[in-house]
Amino acid sequence: MLCVSCRRTIASDADFCRFCGARQPTMGEEITAAGREIAEATAAVMTRIVENVKPFAKEVAVATDRAAKEVAKAMKPAAEKTGKAVEPVVKGAKKVTKSVARGTARVTAEAARKVKAAAKK
Ligand SMILES: [Zn+2]
Repeated sequence: MLCVSCRRTIASDADFCRFCGARQPTMGEEITAAGREIAEATAAVMTRIVENVKPFAKEVAVATDRAAKEVAKAMKPAAEKTGKAVEPVVKGAKKVTKSVARGTARVTAEAARKVKAAAKK
């Protein structure tokens, strides 16, 4: 590796440079420094992106808002139509359920009567 101070080649596990005596950073320190550099670079890039987008941010927000409203408007008649279309089906289902219940009750009552009549014999 290279000495952090004089840039001469030294042993990769050296704690101090054998030429200038400068203390070499530990792996932990190097990782911390690299992490800090990455964080700083990321922050710089993000700042640049934000600054580049800023002039359009308002337009994007307005366009998104308009699109959302248009979608909602377009959906409304379809939603109302769906609601109206479903209504008779729901009513019909209730009617069918009622008649099935009535029919079941009648059949059950008849069966009970037959069973009673058979028991009397
Ligand atoms: Zn050195």
